[in-house]
Amino acid sequence: MSPTNDSPENARGLAALPRANNAAWARYLWALPMLLSLLFVGSTIVWLLRIDALDREERRQTMIADALTLETQLRGQLEAESAQLGEIAKQIQTGKLSTTQFATSAVVTNSFTSLWRSVTWLDQSNRVLAFASIGNTNASLSQADSPTGQRGLSAHLVANLSGSAVGSLVARYSPTVLLKHSVPWWLARKYHVRLIDTLEQEIAAMDSSMPRSVGGKLGAGLGLERASYRLSFDPTIRDAYLELIEHEPFVPWTRSFLPTFIIVFLLLITIATWMLRRQMRSVLHAESAWRTESAWRSAMEDSMVVGLRARDFDGRLVYVNRTFAEMVGWPVESLIGKLPPMPYWQPDEIEKTMQRHRRNMAGDAPREGYEARWLHGRGHSFDVMVFETPLVDASGKQIGWMGSILDITERKRMEERDRKQADTLAHHARLTMLGEVASTLAHELNQPLTAIASYNAGVINSLQRDGFSDASVHNALLRLGEQAAQAGRIVARIREFLTRREPELEPCNIHEVVVNAIALFRRELTRHQITIKFNNDNHAIQVLADAVLIEQVMINLLRNATDAFSAAPDQMRLIEVSVHPAGEAFLRIDVTDNGPGLGGRAIRDLCAAFYSTKTEGMGMGLAICRSIIEAHGGALDAAESPASFAPHGAQFSLTLPAFKPTRSTGLQDSDTDNIDIDMDVDSDKVAVTQHEVEA
Ligand code: ADP
Repeated sequence: MSPTNDSPENARGLAALPRANNAAWARYLWALPMLLSLLFVGSTIVWLLRIDALDREERRQTMIADALTLETQLRGQLEAESAQLGEIAKQIQTGKLSTTQFATSAVVTNSFTSLWRSVTWLDQSNRVLAFASIGNTNASLSQADSPTGQRGLSAHLVANLSGSAVGSLVARYSPTVLLKHSVPWWLARKYHVRLIDTLEQEIAAMDSSMPRSVGGKLGAGLGLERASYRLSFDPTIRDAYLELIEHEPFVPWTRSFLPTFIIVFLLLITIATWMLRRQMRSVLHAESAWRTESAWRSAMEDSMVVGLRARDFDGRLVYVNRTFAEMVGWPVESLIGKLPPMPYWQPDEIEKTMQRHRRNMAGDAPREGYEARWLHGRGHSFDVMVFETPLVDASGKQIGWMGSILDITERKRMEERDRKQADTLAHHARLTMLGEVASTLAHELNQPLTAIASYNAGVINSLQRDGFSDASVHNALLRLGEQAAQAGRIVARIREFLTRREPELEPCNIHEVVVNAIALFRRELTRHQITIKFNNDNHAIQVLADAVLIEQVMINLLRNATDAFSAAPDQMRLIEVSVHPAGEAFLRIDVTDNGPGLGGRAIRDLCAAFYSTKTEGMGMGLAICRSIIEAHGGALDAAESPASFAPHGAQFSLTLPAFKPTRSTGLQDSDTDNIDIDMDVDSDKVAVTQHEVEA
């Protein structure tokens, strides 16, 4: 993963929106169920018609089987009747039955109990020899056999006579009665049974009132014609057919149920499709509205200066806007799905940041927001203000945390600048006051010091005049005079420094200046049991400086080193002063001690006005030293002492311009110039600026 610049295209935490042209086919999606339903209805119809055809075929097979059974039955019946007729013929042929006995003989009359209507005895020339009919016998007739039940044509059974009585016997019977006697009840319930001739004329029928078809032509058109089957009844009845016709036309259940089912189904599916279409339209409408809103939202989020990030309860980033990605300098894709520690956390503050993260996830983030320092992908740090709010879904349930992040680096920089400016003003005011105090003090001290020097000179002169020759008193008075003169010079120089634009630079021997400073401070060094070393290879080396002020700087550095030893009481105390050339034009003086050292503090910190770690310290020593050195065109620096001073120690170094006799000294009589001091704390430099001072 590496930080990159985000393009507007990939600056999306949310999944890319589906393309709008998807909606083109989605617009007709509602018709799909309708098409599928029609396909289903079509398949159902085909399937049912197939079943219907199979059913029909099965019924037809049954009907054929029934017809054949009935035919066998009828033929059997008529064969029995023929046998009966043969019996009468046999009686006649054996002579047992004469023409006179014929009508009354038992064998003839008994034959009328079934089908027969009459029996006629014919000779060879078909002349009637004897005749017996149902009317002139005693035979009892059933209702069915009564004359009213004898509809249709009649049929004949013939038995030929041979031997002594050549001729024939003809029995007339009713085929209708034959049917009624022979057709079983279950068959009669299923079919209308009849016998017809070749001209379609009905010979006999079980029921004469049967309509030929249901619904006439319309019924036939709808396939509601009665199923029928006919088979030849030859030769039992010549040119006759036995026909079975269904009582009820075969109406497959599909005929009644299927149309209703299909109509209802189609009606329902049409309603459902209509509703679906309406629903889909509203969905498409809503989707289009959502798409517009989403586009607006994305545009707004991308144009925001506030970074947005959404996290689930595990702290996983589920959404970031472009501003956030740009703010942290990582591409959106590499951020989405990331779990802590985040790539924008400060590596040296991972543990602290993780604690803050846990606090935020627990819902304890400060409502007024909190400040954090993050790391940009390119390596620089920046300050942010983070506001955490609950992230809720459409049902109002919290699903994580939404963070709004403001980059406050610039704001903090401005605040810091304002703060420094305020500090600068305050310091400036204090320095101005200090300058005035110092100036006043120098002015006030000048008089008494001059008086001390004068009185001292007067006392020495008086003692000499009076012949007082105690050497120790004389020396003491001389030292007193020197110290008073030195104090006077210091005061004068400070006054000059505070009131002049530049120090009074003149070529001076730096070796002597340092030796003088050490001599003036020797008493303190001895008192604190400090060993001092002075290394200078070139005793004649000269610098362009104000010797008194440089002495003061040296004494201040020695005093600071001495004070530092109070923090390390039990060690061998050493201060080393060394002078080296620093390049062509400069000379460097190092004051090194083996005290506690600077503890990482830089010269900038140490020279801050009023910075002191001492209870009695004023914190202006180094600041004044630096301004003096810089007024000479040199520089003051501080560092830990070199390894030879281990384990601790500080080294203060100052540079001064070396004096080259050939070069112009740049000295100028500036007694008439009036100067004041401005300290620019922000840049930690003391600049000497010129002001007109009113007389
Ligand atoms: P002051 O002496 O009044 O404290 P200075 O400006 O002279 O003011 O010194 C500022 C601070 O710098 C001191 O308080 C001390 O903490 C630190 N300092 C100066 N010199 C040394 C040194 N040689 N070793 C350690 N600390 C020093």
